[in-house]
Amino acid sequence: MAETLDKKEVVVVGMGWAGSIVAAELAKSGKQVLGLERGREKTTEDYLTAHDEYRYVVGHEMMQDLSKETITYRNALDEEALPMRRFGAFLIGTDVGGGGVHWNGDTWFYNPYDFELKSRTEEKYGPDKVSDDYLIQDWGITYDELLPYYEKFEETAGISGEQNPMGPERRKPYPTPPMKMTPLLSDFKAACEAAGATPFRTPAGNMSEQYTNPDGMTLAACQYCGFCEKFGCEWGAKSSPIVTTIPVAKQHDNFELRTNANVLEILKEDGEVTGVHYIDPRTQLEYIQPADVVVVTSHTTNNTKLLLHSELGTAYDPETGDGAVGKNYCLHITPSVTAFFDKEYNMSMGAGALGVTIDDYNNDNFDHSDVDFIHGGSISMKQQGKRPILENAVPQGTKNWGAEFKNESINAYNRSAGAWAQMITLPYVNNYLSLDPTYTDDYGRPLLRVTYDVTDHDRNVHEYIADRIEEILDEMNPVSKNRSELGEHFDILPAHNDHIVGGTIMGADPETSVVNNYLQMWDADNVFVIGGSNFPHNGGYNPTGTVGALAYRAAEGIEQYLDDNGPLVDA
Ligand SMILES: Cc1cc2nc3c(=O)[nH]c(=O)nc-3n(C[C@H](O)[C@H](O)[C@H](O)COP(=O)(O)OP(=O)(O)OC[C@H]3O[C@@H](n4cnc5c(N)ncnc54)[C@H](O)[C@@H]3O)c2cc1C
Ligand code: SF4
Repeated sequence: MAETLDKKEVVVVGMGWAGSIVAAELAKSGKQVLGLERGREKTTEDYLTAHDEYRYVVGHEMMQDLSKETITYRNALDEEALPMRRFGAFLIGTDVGGGGVHWNGDTWFYNPYDFELKSRTEEKYGPDKVSDDYLIQDWGITYDELLPYYEKFEETAGISGEQNPMGPERRKPYPTPPMKMTPLLSDFKAACEAAGATPFRTPAGNMSEQYTNPDGMTLAACQYCGFCEKFGCEWGAKSSPIVTTIPVAKQHDNFELRTNANVLEILKEDGEVTGVHYIDPRTQLEYIQPADVVVVTSHTTNNTKLLLHSELGTAYDPETGDGAVGKNYCLHITPSVTAFFDKEYNMSMGAGALGVTIDDYNNDNFDHSDVDFIHGGSISMKQQGKRPILENAVPQGTKNWGAEFKNESINAYNRSAGAWAQMITLPYVNNYLSLDPTYTDDYGRPLLRVTYDVTDHDRNVHEYIADRIEEILDEMNPVSKNRSELGEHFDILPAHNDHIVGGTIMGADPETSVVNNYLQMWDADNVFVIGGSNFPHNGGYNPTGTVGALAYRAAEGIEQYLDDNGPLVDA
């Protein structure tokens, strides 16, 4: 029997970037906010002397425990989905700070084209450029409307960078100057220029210098330690909720953080959402937490799963096209080329977002009239620091064991580097999220089922972008190159990228979207759902800048809702 607790004004499910931004903003404005996080609380001290690749990268210590809660996966509607037993194509974070603790820090504004993908594509290339099987749609918000919230996130997070020559003119300089340049990145930059592209520094959340944000939180300067992606930063030099938004929320007595609180369901009475039901996974004790407003910020898969379990919104049906919850599930595919050189670089040092990027083959930055796809992807070379266990690229044809492998991988360690793209994938009628009819999690709920396969469109973009990466790397005079191949079907096990989006998408029409442009559910005024799950498609950059911007906008909307009650946008 679940114990019923005292009511709160706002309960936030999940304490990653999205949840902690909402919590901090509402706490500042005096609202009574409860943050529920299924994981534990960790601080920078927990990451001292924790450069342990086996524990964090192989063992996935900061990720969702798949033995308790996983997803099932299939390529096509007529297949039986099977449970994912180990992480591969993407990772799902846990603990306070979520993926914002172990991320790299690449922090982007999506392009104006992204928010109006359908209308701008049709206007320029006609209605038949993309078949109706690709469910592209506008976001119900424009770049200009989201810009102030992007800027707010950048200031909170202390992002560094320089003007993207192919992007819109910035209104403000980056809060911090670009990170250090390295010989490898200088050579890549020169190669991009030689290939006719326009390189610039990757916008980074690894502090290029000590920085104090508008909330008074001070972040230290990055040490280029190389243990950044999939690790927490013991220096407090990586922008993350645990050094920015969480401490700000905690400065206010009207905010409470409750860890080990795994939300199982959003509760309704007489059709009205009244709070959440959660379990403490350590004790198995269950609680009912009443609230005026429920904010769901538990990342793409968990956001969608919670709505489906709670029967909120209408589940998407790929046969009829009806319903929107679960629809437009997309990810990033990463065309990549690793080049092997005669020359040596110091590859052990680096930082998550230390890089050089080109945007020439992204968005609608080039004419797509003569290609059979739209959009594209940003191409970057990063210097992230190679770690001892998994960073052992060898030229194609090398044996993958024994003395030959050892010698080649030692030789290649400082003589190889990869460039890759954050390549968009378009939403497709049969790629979606639903509840699995067979498998359940530790709490007896159906697992979330992913149905996904590579589309013809995405294959075309992949080949085009991989060709462009090869052309650039050829300017660096490599001895040899390894190029990524897309298999016949999408495989969930090899690592692809962590940018899964869709499932609770935003839009202007309740028939084809789940939330409005304040991330408020069309079907439940007092439920806000925020995260990558709001994206109707993935842009050609990493997603978290956009997640942060949407969270700041939603926080404003929630405040307005608490004052006025009712829908913030007319259907
Ligand atoms: C290795 C890696 C590198 C990345 N690098 C970048 C990058 O450089 N740039 C970029 O833009 N993006 C990057 N990302 C993606 C980025 O981490 C996510 O976009 C971002 O963290 C999303 O923030 P969020 O708050 O929406 O979700 P999360 O950070 O996932 O937070 C969700 C929180 O909700 C909690 N939760 C889930 N379910 C429940 C429940 N039922 N009850 C209670 N709590 C729950 C989780 O434990 C988690 O703490 C990376 C991701 C990974 C895995
Ligand atoms: S590279 Fe920099 S930001 Fe990343 S973990 Fe190391 S010190 Fe922190």
